[in-house]
Amino acid sequence: MSGLDQASSHPSGRLRKPFFGALRACGSALASLPRLALDIALPTLCVSCREPVSGEGVCATCWAKLSFIAPPFCARLGIPFVYDPGPGLLSMQAIADPPAYQRARAAVRYDEVARTMVHALKYQDRTDLAPTMGRWMARAGQELLGDADALIPVPLHWRRGWSRRYNQSGALAGVIGKSANLPVIGNALHRVRPTLQQVGLSRSDRALNVQGAFKVPPENKSTVQGRRIVLIDDVLTSGATVDACARALLRARAASVDVLVFSRVVDTLQAPI
Ligand SMILES: [Zn+2]
Repeated sequence: MSGLDQASSHPSGRLRKPFFGALRACGSALASLPRLALDIALPTLCVSCREPVSGEGVCATCWAKLSFIAPPFCARLGIPFVYDPGPGLLSMQAIADPPAYQRARAAVRYDEVARTMVHALKYQDRTDLAPTMGRWMARAGQELLGDADALIPVPLHWRRGWSRRYNQSGALAGVIGKSANLPVIGNALHRVRPTLQQVGLSRSDRALNVQGAFKVPPENKSTVQGRRIVLIDDVLTSGATVDACARALLRARAASVDVLVFSRVVDTLQAPI
């Protein structure tokens, strides 16, 4: 079964097993009864349409609306091509304006359901979505993860992290690190000044907004130096944020930087040259 086939099967068929497994566990551990009762009383709701779902966070109907990104795509930027130009070909954009990072990959296109998932993880405490989203990312980034030494989540400024309580990119990195057996370096890269939300800014303003915003403090350089890093973030829009992060990591002598995100904006279909 190819990676793509795995990505296109909704796991609802597996849902009954954990339930009966949990029942059996209750036989030997009475302490788990209250938790089981709570799970039955409060089923997880589909993040997009609010229908009850078991476990996965997104129902089969909404899952079918997601666009998983699959080849053919630009080998550098990961932007899908409309037709297959052959292996290793780059988009015009990758040649005209190459990023600081080596390669970028994303699990899904940033459309309605993807946006809802990202917002729910980021702002509505739907941390239950992180394992699903991280699993899809690990699949999309298989090639990058196979070449990597460590993962680094895009950091929040401490003030934003405080109000939001946790870093969604860190949550995704944790899931991916476990599945790919890679360490997550959570403290190497710092956001040294708060930035505006990138939403609503033009492409050039986005680059300006994050310029110099990230830094590897001298005492953390040894954790980055000579290592092949995969940067983890939830969304890639213009790429300005991950590009600024990659520059900071390369200045700290990282061997290479790749980028893996949950979702990326694909506004225009890029024609290969
Ligand atoms: Zn749904």
